[in-house]
Amino acid sequence: GKHVYFFGGGKADGDRTMRDLLGGKGAGLAEMTRAGLPVPPGFTISTDVCALFYAQGGRVPDAVEREMAAGLERLEKLAGARLGASDGPLLLSVRSGAKFSMPGMMDTILNLGLNDETVEGLKARTGNGRFAYDSYRRFLQMFGSVVLQVPKDAFDQKFESVKRLRGARLDTDLDEQALRDVVVEYQHVVRQHTDREFPQDPREQLRMARDAVFSSWNNPRAIEYRRIYEIPDDIGTAVNVQTMVFGNTGERSATGVGFTRNPATGAKEFYGEFLVNAQGEDVVAGIRTPQPIRELERLMPEAYAQLREYTSTLERHYQDVQDFEFTIEDGRLYMLQTRSGKRTGYAAVVIATDLVDEGVVEPRQALLLVEPASLSQLLAPVFDPAAWKAVAVATRGLPASPGAACGQAVFSADEAVRWSEHGKRVVLVRKETAPDDIHGMYVAEGILTATGGMTSHAAVVGRQMGKPAVVGAGGLSIDEAGRTLRIGDQTIGEGDWLSFDGLSGEVKIARIATRPSEILQVLAGEMRPESSDIHRRFTRLLEWADRERRLEIRANADLPDQAALAYAFGARGIGLCRTEHMFFGEDRLPIVQRMILSQREADRRQALAELLPLQREDFYGVFKAMHGCPVTIRTIDPPLHEFLPKREEVMVDIARLEAAGKTGRELEEKLALLRRVEQLHEFNPMLGHRGVRVGITFPEITEMQARAIFEAACRLAREGQAVVPEIMIPLVSDVRELRDQKAIVDRVAAEVTKAHGVEIPYLVGTMIEVPRGALTADSIAREARFFSFGTNDMTQLAFGFSRDDIGKFLPAYRQKKILERDPFASLDVEGVGELVRIAVEKGRRARPDLALGVCGEHGGDPSSIHFFEEVGLDYVSASPYRVPVARLAAAQAAL
Ligand code: ADP
Ligand code: MG
Ligand code: MG
Repeated sequence: GKHVYFFGGGKADGDRTMRDLLGGKGAGLAEMTRAGLPVPPGFTISTDVCALFYAQGGRVPDAVEREMAAGLERLEKLAGARLGASDGPLLLSVRSGAKFSMPGMMDTILNLGLNDETVEGLKARTGNGRFAYDSYRRFLQMFGSVVLQVPKDAFDQKFESVKRLRGARLDTDLDEQALRDVVVEYQHVVRQHTDREFPQDPREQLRMARDAVFSSWNNPRAIEYRRIYEIPDDIGTAVNVQTMVFGNTGERSATGVGFTRNPATGAKEFYGEFLVNAQGEDVVAGIRTPQPIRELERLMPEAYAQLREYTSTLERHYQDVQDFEFTIEDGRLYMLQTRSGKRTGYAAVVIATDLVDEGVVEPRQALLLVEPASLSQLLAPVFDPAAWKAVAVATRGLPASPGAACGQAVFSADEAVRWSEHGKRVVLVRKETAPDDIHGMYVAEGILTATGGMTSHAAVVGRQMGKPAVVGAGGLSIDEAGRTLRIGDQTIGEGDWLSFDGLSGEVKIARIATRPSEILQVLAGEMRPESSDIHRRFTRLLEWADRERRLEIRANADLPDQAALAYAFGARGIGLCRTEHMFFGEDRLPIVQRMILSQREADRRQALAELLPLQREDFYGVFKAMHGCPVTIRTIDPPLHEFLPKREEVMVDIARLEAAGKTGRELEEKLALLRRVEQLHEFNPMLGHRGVRVGITFPEITEMQARAIFEAACRLAREGQAVVPEIMIPLVSDVRELRDQKAIVDRVAAEVTKAHGVEIPYLVGTMIEVPRGALTADSIAREARFFSFGTNDMTQLAFGFSRDDIGKFLPAYRQKKILERDPFASLDVEGVGELVRIAVEKGRRARPDLALGVCGEHGGDPSSIHFFEEVGLDYVSASPYRVPVARLAAAQAAL
């Protein structure tokens, strides 16, 4: 097949659609050539040659060599100059370019074709000796370091010493003679480091450079970059061989880079930098301080006008912001690269809405210009950028929930509450968090933990609360009792300031200023919608998304204020209301504990009777906040002992009482508590007495919860608001479990609605999260009106990975490529997804109108949402702050 793709003279073998084969750069060069832009001609050796190169032990197949020779001949004809000719030689650049841009990760070689003879030819042809020798010294340096692997430092030192000797401040202060000296020195450096002369044959130079670019695909930097950005290792890089143009011929030449719009803010402003009399990487390498692009308008108005015209043509052509590279040679502009510009979430929304207003794209295309996950950035408080930059990173963890957190360190939830009651801003630092830390998490600016993964308690709750969280920061050693934290050799005590960024996972030891997000200010009524430009754009974009998506969007919310926020973010239903979170409230925990500790059913019923009105209020609030949309309420799920104090804490209390010589009732009660806590101890609580099993053993709990739900619903119905309760039984593995619980719910529903004289439409369904439940979904569907996939537990049970311990081995799994991603963050389509498929198929066969949704953390993950669209679920449910992300991702999945 064909391996070499030519571009030049207004024609190109390739085009923009061929990024797989030509890489992003090669496809861009071909497309710009076709569009008639001034692109120096050349050819692209396709990415599949990269694999052949490695398969043959670092050699390019002969057929490719021949194709390349033909390409070179064609290039020489077009350019009217020959590689290696002593009278005005053809010079080339050899550039890497993979499908996904990997800025600066691989290597580029410029001015190839120069040697001791052709450099004189270049001088003679241009009459510019300084330029010729400047180009030669650049080539020696680049080829020497990239291809011959001579340390870059060795060249830099020589360059600096020549500059010093000549009293030159900048590289442009060196004259021809000085640059000749540099060339001699460089050749000497090469000789010293390689025991060989610098290769003088241009064709050999070209082969070596090409092979070095292919080899650079596997340099450690490139490998690490691909790991971080999840770019496959096997797609390979292309090699672009291109005629040189020169930005270093003098004051009428320049080189630069830019964006058609501001990539940080999205503002419609031409954005970029350039350097006069310079080449290639000088702009980014900090050789001299580059000038802002508007200066170019003053210095070279014609070239500037052309650049504006070409780049706005490109933006229209690609229907997206472009990031471009250019060179001006003696006043003539050449385009060297164009690609879609990387941008912040904020900029992405601004740009997408502007492009629609400018008529460049249709709304449905604009939806594809915004990375759904990046919307979270618009909701989170932000650090003042300059202040953030000024402080060094102390350590890093997993970026679990985006946003800027800054506060004084506290090491327990109770301390967090105490400090915040005194008006302090705190960050809660824990080894890990547990449900009884909620009150502390609620008041904290952010949550920082040493262990746990992306679905650990801290991460899930952080996202649900919209609080910044960095979890699993292995560099922290926390002494919770001693209230200190060590990072490296620094010790942080209670009250010391910490700042961390939940989007990058970076932690800094300092107080750094933050600002709240505008969109939240509007939703909270603290800012008028008309005065927020970004709120208006955000709302428009999501309305376009709503028009395109098929999946409905619900939210995971436990409390009325969370439900109200979710509704404001566009959720039209609650997919998961976790009732047990309601048990942790200060006014309830003692009652809940009394209920659990009761040995007799009558005592338990007494405690439950006290809880009933409290739960009823909660449900009333949640129903009301959802304005008649369906609300799925899950009956009690966690193991009971989560509501009790820890054994060690009770023992400490007992010891204290004994030391104080107390022997009365108080001590008796503590001893009874200790016995009960010990009785409830489980070896494997996550596989123990939890979920539907609690309702089976204590039916009166289910009964109370059902009563609270229907009494709240009846009250609202009488007030004239529609309510659709969906009662969801967790952790079902056998239809008989569901049947048992459903009978209770149905009985209570009949009793309550009869007593109130109203009809409430309701559904009883189940969570599908235990593999056996998925595999027997057909029989379960005969009792269940809906399934909601609990993909957190399902992932845990399918892999047998504890979600709270995965942090210990996930890094090794990823490094060894056993797992590409954290399966708790992004659904494992192959295994867990297969369970979902089976359950969908069996469930729908048994009950065609079965409603299907997902309420695990994956419901807010864009790539998982694509899978849920594909298997045909009815809705996804995400934590309130991820609702906008889910709306956009669901639209993209449908497009
Ligand atoms: P990267 O992928 O790291 O950006 P490039 O292949 O784009 O590497 O090359 C880096 C720089 O080298 C370009 O921005 C451009 O300034 C310069 N360059 C590349 N090819 C040419 C060429 N044919 N003529 C002049 N300069 C070039
Ligand atoms: Mg480039
Ligand atoms: Mg579960």
